Amino acid sequence: MNIGKNCVVAADFQLYDGQGEMIDSSESNGPLVYLHGAEQLLPALEAALDGHAVGDELSVALTPEQGFGPREDELVERVPRANFPGVEEIGPGMRFQTQLPDGSPMIVMVTDVDDEYVTVDGNHELAGRDLRFELKVVEVREATPEELAHGHAHGVDGSEAH
Ligand code: ZN
Repeated sequence: MNIGKNCVVAADFQLYDGQGEMIDSSESNGPLVYLHGAEQLLPALEAALDGHAVGDELSVALTPEQGFGPREDELVERVPRANFPGVEEIGPGMRFQTQLPDGSPMIVMVTDVDDEYVTVDGNHELAGRDLRFELKVVEVREATPEELAHGHAHGVDGSEAH
């Protein structure tokens, strides 16, 4: 069966940045499993997988625009420590959820801390980076009615309801 709309696809992958450094892989985080045609993946990645079958291997290079967008300097902010009440230890790499002016949630990551200020970065950690996915398709099956109703895959074999 070839990958097309309403298939559930599982693929082993390695994700590299533009310098060839591995960022993520199925070895550490399990295979990529998604419902094809449900806008679960980056569009350029989904388009590259279209029509492939189990056993196919492919390499997909993505520009930042095809990936997680450009980095935006205005998403980096220095915030007074007093804005983190009840948080004893703040250090680089910690993530917090904050609110945009319109009330929608945004995840920010702490990048720097001094006595008075915490620097947080609201950019996606892969923003502004060239990416390359090395993929091997390991499963292609029809989505279950439940998966189609939910708009996402329920694991490689469809048994992981959520
Ligand atoms: Zn579900």
